[in-house]
Amino acid sequence: MNPFAYVRADAPASALTAITEFPGARYVAGGTNLLDLMKLDVEAPPLLVDISRLSLHAIEDRSGALYVGALARLTDVAADARVRQRFPLVAIALEESASPQLRNMATVGGNLLQRTRCAYFRDIAMPCNKRNPGSGCGALDGENRRHAVLGTSPHCIAVAPSDLAVALAAIDATVHVAGRDGPRTIAMRDFYRLPGEMPQIETSLEPNELIAGVSLPPLAFSSRSTYVKVRDRAQYDFALASAAVALDLEDTTIREARIALGGLATVPWRSPEAERLLGGAIASRASFERAAAAAMSGALGRGANDYKISLGQRTLVRALENAAKG
Ligand code: SF4
Repeated sequence: MNPFAYVRADAPASALTAITEFPGARYVAGGTNLLDLMKLDVEAPPLLVDISRLSLHAIEDRSGALYVGALARLTDVAADARVRQRFPLVAIALEESASPQLRNMATVGGNLLQRTRCAYFRDIAMPCNKRNPGSGCGALDGENRRHAVLGTSPHCIAVAPSDLAVALAAIDATVHVAGRDGPRTIAMRDFYRLPGEMPQIETSLEPNELIAGVSLPPLAFSSRSTYVKVRDRAQYDFALASAAVALDLEDTTIREARIALGGLATVPWRSPEAERLLGGAIASRASFERAAAAAMSGALGRGANDYKISLGQRTLVRALENAAKG
């Protein structure tokens, strides 16, 4: 690990100043991802700006939405009675994330910004366009069993790792950001960027901007929502496929559906086609299977990850069936 300087910020403004004045500096809070990457020499920031003491831990009602501060710990958010009652799919996604020890340290903001688990990204001896732009992508024709089949590009096929981000995509959450030019908000659907030709740029955050929190808008039909995650191990593993869904039902007719997929795509993957197909349909296995086929219709495997196309469909069907049961 390279030597680095350390400063603790006591307000968002001082954090923004510190990081702006020191090129290459990084924010650190829980440190559950960044410190790993520093030990691997994937990240070598000259300065860490510790934001863990900023007053960004609150979980509170604001303007009809539930606002979750960026520094709220995953454990605390998952245990919050308002989250559990109003956004069960968010609580489930959090409980299915990482291990209890990691959830006790990891923050909401850090979770949304965690880097990919692609093994080539984490090994500095390997080519990786995301870590070293222009060096190539070891995964394209390499070990890609866990890689994405949706939203890929010829430059990167890494999977977006956050479970929480998938649930937040399904409920149309909003990310609140602090920057040198003042605060702004970014809709969750616009927060993550497809890899395209620049996989090193993963979000629409401007350089040095700081996530302040996330607001969860009311979801009237949250009692019929869930998150299903399929993985190699029952505990402490990343998704091979996951689905965050919510259904608004009138008797057996679907008025509205929300669908977001994880473990399958380079970004949390919302599927408007599948949602459109379900609107007005009868909640049945047949309509769920049609929607799942539509959700995965543009999927492209690269050999070892071909199985994800059918796995994604089955995961989504299971999630929709569970949601329909309430
Ligand atoms: Fe790097 Fe993306 Fe290729 Fe993995 S898939 S090696 S992160 S460019």
